[in-house]
Amino acid sequence: MSCLFCQIIDGSIPSKPIYQDDECYAFADINPQAPVHILIVPRKHVASIAHAGKEHNSLVGHLHWVAAEIARSKGLVEGYRTVINTGEHGGQTVEHIHVHLLGGRHLAWPPG
Ligand code: 5GP
Ligand code: ZN
Repeated sequence: MSCLFCQIIDGSIPSKPIYQDDECYAFADINPQAPVHILIVPRKHVASIAHAGKEHNSLVGHLHWVAAEIARSKGLVEGYRTVINTGEHGGQTVEHIHVHLLGGRHLAWPPG
């Protein structure tokens, strides 16, 4: 049984597509925390940043470049936030690396 995001990537669970390429898929978060809330997910299953090795460096960089491209396409000229939650204390609920792209409102700091 593959993980939730692997099932979203293979299309067995529906999602709203935003962007896709050979390495990743981006889709709208089902429970948006900002006017723009998109998840950028590698096609290859890696459980978390803590599980990523040096061989994943370009993939992790690519996810962030995609986030910036989507932010440009959404006109987020006043800024936005990219977030990767890791592990229980980090608030990670789906064990497949994903970059959150949040924007469209002023985001507070520090996070809760
Ligand atoms: P995490 O808490 O692991 O950093 O982020 C997981 C994200 O996945 C959450 O923001 C949550 O709303 C989103 N999510 C969980 N299940 C689904 C789903 O079935 N479809 C979509 N589009 N997003 C989901
Ligand atoms: Zn997965």
